[in-house]
Amino acid sequence: MKKKKTGGLPLSRRVARRVEELKPSGIRRFFDLVVGRDDVISLGVGEPDFPVPWRIREEMIYSLEKGYTSYTSNIGLPELREGIAEYYTRFGVTAMPEQIIVTAGVSEGVDLAIRTLIEPGDAALIPEPCYVSYKPLVEICGGEAITIPTVPDFRLNYDMLMEYKEANAKILVLNYPANPTGVSYSKKELEEIADAVNELDLIVLSDEIYAELTYTGRHVSLAALNGMEDKVVVFNGFSKAFSMTGLRVGYVIAPPDIFAGMLKIHQYCMLCAPITGQIGAIEALKSLDEVDRMRAEYMRRRNFVVKRLSEIFEIKKPEGAFYAFPKISSTGMSSEEFAEGLLMKKNVAVVPGNAFGECGEGYIRLAYAVKFDKLKEAMDRIKEFVEEYGKS
Ligand code: PLP
Repeated sequence: MKKKKTGGLPLSRRVARRVEELKPSGIRRFFDLVVGRDDVISLGVGEPDFPVPWRIREEMIYSLEKGYTSYTSNIGLPELREGIAEYYTRFGVTAMPEQIIVTAGVSEGVDLAIRTLIEPGDAALIPEPCYVSYKPLVEICGGEAITIPTVPDFRLNYDMLMEYKEANAKILVLNYPANPTGVSYSKKELEEIADAVNELDLIVLSDEIYAELTYTGRHVSLAALNGMEDKVVVFNGFSKAFSMTGLRVGYVIAPPDIFAGMLKIHQYCMLCAPITGQIGAIEALKSLDEVDRMRAEYMRRRNFVVKRLSEIFEIKKPEGAFYAFPKISSTGMSSEEFAEGLLMKKNVAVVPGNAFGECGEGYIRLAYAVKFDKLKEAMDRIKEFVEEYGKS
């Protein structure tokens, strides 16, 4: 019998060490526990519960009927890129369609940018708690992810950044409104952050995927501030605001040199974002009234969840996105004990705060992207759980 090829390495060493050393996502672990269980109310995964608005679906259906199933240009459909350039003026950015790459979700965009910018030994500053993908993507490139703990306010500011002067970092990853904390920034706060960015000579990856879901006025993009246009790569997409997660459409707005690098990788690894999703995205940009409707409902839920949770826990009122991040350490349980206990005893799924970084220990994340009656039931069950199993 022919011997199986292992590239000359023992079987256990076939996977690259930098990949083997990555930790699996803490969100996925909890997601897998609840798959196929109808009895569980899941506040676990950050996925909108609204269907894709009908007129967006219709455009995609027509496009399939017409047989539009080919590749598009690598950078995306011209009409979509023009639409995005115009749309982003609402967040203060004047971008040319030539600066925009349509990607397979923000996930691809962040990966492209990190691979374009990070060489082995380069450092990235990442405020924590944060979305799960930034740190692993930096590490896969051989970079050093330096995390900046932001508890208890979850806000980054000038002084905090300046403490990392000696780190000589190349990039800062910023996400606001933030997953998992819901924190967002005013123009004044962003101006302070921009001062530190200038002093530390950083390139900022600004993940603005929840920009539309801002409850305290209009989102301001960091790239809109004076002098920042050449230092910021903006990421946004259609997954959250337009409820289009599975259609995989996002985009980046990047300065020319970074754009050119990202495009090279995108050409080799993705070719283009899916055409059906891109056609839906063109219609989505004409359907902002649908976003207004969904935002109003998320805001109603946010107000309800904050009211109910603040009767039991310490909680900061989220200013955007659809997550609440209460402090549960008063129950005497760790984040994992709490999340596992709540799932086993009360059939409610949440994500332990430490899935978003070590400083998230003592917190849990709840996604309130579920129907109001389910949310009410979940709040009742959480209260019961704490009364029955928490430290009195
Ligand atoms: N960025 C943040 C902050 C997120 O919360 C998510 C998804 O939860 C993503 C990016 C991924 O978005 P996409 O579906 O566009 O890849």
